[in-house]
Amino acid sequence: MITRFAPSPTGPLHLGHAFSAMTASDMARADGGVFLLRIEDIDRARSKPEWEALIFEDLGWLGLDWPRPVLRQSDRLPAYREALGRLWDEGLLYPCTCSRRDIQEAASAPQEGVRIGPDGIVYPGTCRGAPRTGPLPDSVLRLDMQMALRRIGERAFDETGPSAPGWHTIDPQTLIEGAGDVVLARRDFGTSYHLSVVLDDAHQGVTHVVRGQDLFEATAIHVVLQALLDLPVPRYHHHRLIRDETGRRLAKRDDARAIRLYREDGKTPAELREMLGLGPQPSG
Ligand code: GLU
Ligand code: ZN
Repeated sequence: MITRFAPSPTGPLHLGHAFSAMTASDMARADGGVFLLRIEDIDRARSKPEWEALIFEDLGWLGLDWPRPVLRQSDRLPAYREALGRLWDEGLLYPCTCSRRDIQEAASAPQEGVRIGPDGIVYPGTCRGAPRTGPLPDSVLRLDMQMALRRIGERAFDETGPSAPGWHTIDPQTLIEGAGDVVLARRDFGTSYHLSVVLDDAHQGVTHVVRGQDLFEATAIHVVLQALLDLPVPRYHHHRLIRDETGRRLAKRDDARAIRLYREDGKTPAELREMLGLGPQPSG
């Protein structure tokens, strides 16, 4: 079993991250497997070495261990471009020149109706007719979801998480309406979260992707990309989300729940595990 925790070094880790990382590490330990740490730093403007250093510190304090050196997505851009090139050559991508505002306006046209997917407003398809010939453009690239789904036929993934265990078949209509033509390359990054995560999980041989329930819809997109790129489909384990006292899920800005602060407050990792409803760390 190979699991991973894949944070972005754009802020302090909070309790939700601790839960995710410890769940992934516990699963690997209990199985005699390997837990990996991967740094998702494609957002060069927001990623900072100090945040990365704090991630190492916090996770070490929690009692986690992982092979070094860690993989950084910023070192993998050639692999991402290669995969984009393959999808481009198959006519599955198109360049999009819409601004955020264009998308908002087109999506709120009366005949459209704004739908919100995993990446925000579902793209109304304005640029779908743009030429798909020539060399891979250095622009925003979207996946033609309808064409992609026709290409791959029926696909499924095996969920091992507690809330919906078993096989989940990807429903094309749900994906077309709920996610749409997702961005696979942003202009400033040259890639996207969806593309990078799928390529890296395959590259690192991850067998069980452990992540929050909030990424369940994104997982369906990832299974489509795995099919298009001929990659193995790992098992998925979507875990419950850690919420604050008012029931809101924790986000990066919830610095009040930063692991560092619990550390400085004199809490122990065992106390944190208990707070999060995790049993003792399996010996590995
Ligand atoms: N960098 C992503 C995050 O922090 C990784 C999550 C995932 O793909 O499992 O949300
Ligand atoms: Zn567009």
